[in-house]
Amino acid sequence: MSLPPLVEPAAELTVDEVRRYSRHLIIPDVGMAGQKRLKNAKVLCVGAGGLGSPALMYLAAAGVGTLGIVEFDTVDESNLQRQIIHGHSDIGRSKAESARDSVKEINPYVEVILHEERLDNSNVMEIFSGYDLIVDGTDNFATRYLVNDAAVLLGKPYVWGSIYRFDGQASVFWAEHGPCYRCLYPEAPPPGMVPSCAEGGVLGVLCASIGSIQVTEAIKLLAGVGDPLVGRLMIYDALEMTYRQVKVRKDPNCAVCSENPTVTELIDYEAFCGVVSEEAQAAAAGSTITSKQLKAWQDENEDIFLVDVREPNEYEIVSIPGATLIPKGEFLMGTALELMPQDKKIVLHCKTGVRSAEVLAVLKAAGFSDAVHLGGGVVGWVNQIEPEKPIY
Ligand SMILES: [Zn+2]
Repeated sequence: MSLPPLVEPAAELTVDEVRRYSRHLIIPDVGMAGQKRLKNAKVLCVGAGGLGSPALMYLAAAGVGTLGIVEFDTVDESNLQRQIIHGHSDIGRSKAESARDSVKEINPYVEVILHEERLDNSNVMEIFSGYDLIVDGTDNFATRYLVNDAAVLLGKPYVWGSIYRFDGQASVFWAEHGPCYRCLYPEAPPPGMVPSCAEGGVLGVLCASIGSIQVTEAIKLLAGVGDPLVGRLMIYDALEMTYRQVKVRKDPNCAVCSENPTVTELIDYEAFCGVVSEEAQAAAAGSTITSKQLKAWQDENEDIFLVDVREPNEYEIVSIPGATLIPKGEFLMGTALELMPQDKKIVLHCKTGVRSAEVLAVLKAAGFSDAVHLGGGVVGWVNQIEPEKPIY
């Protein structure tokens, strides 16, 4: 599959630029037209970490005219083993500023735009809309789904990469021409199932292997050359030194990029990926019960008030006997608090224990200090107590 160039050519290259990019200009497939397209291109790197480092450096060297950097973190000594855009003297500095300085040192003709903020629902659409192409170097699932959905909703292509220990993956997701990230991974893995690089480690140079695939694909898309990695997943195994390709098809039932999407605007990505906030973790510590404990309380007729904080459609699929449905949103708005009894022990539950932990934090902050929540949620309940019931 070949695709038309993403970007129109800039009017001209200066004499200095012609000298700088001469090794590109003499490649017939790039040439003056391709280099002018790169000059006119606006590329956003989400993250200036492991993948963002080589990506930004090579995009800058290649002559991409405008580079955006989304990064809110500061440089830590443990970053330097792989995040080669930062140096020893940058420890403690803003990563965005450190990355900008390196880009400017590599190529002063590049315009750098810093977005020193955490990418979230409130800013992603506005930030993405200023760019032709996004390079995703994020290391967490919530941001990956956020990047994907925003790109699909805006009709923008993006180059995705991921790394772990000796293994890397890369692809180009562009819903207009192929699958999106959700077509490949409709659901995030359960929290704790896939360790992060911080927990499991990553071979530093793996970042270069995957980052260079990402930049190669970015250049191809911008200039409209070659066969882009749309609908293909590249899997790299550094130990075996193999690259493998897997075809990825567009999922006709994809939640976001199919003809009848169920996701038509940005959602709560932390909840979708089961990310528990620090407040919720603190609230749940020492206040989490098991399904067996809940069953025992029910059997002993303990005075408990069991609250299901999921949505009505989920409650319809399966519920725990005796539970009262009060969706999480009503707790966040404060309207549910007056429904809470003062003389009963409050037990919260949701699907897997993520949302109920968040509500528990709200309840505890409101003075319900002996409220608890059900670890594992209704899924755990069905598995342990009522295996004949469906889980979803
Ligand atoms: Zn899709």
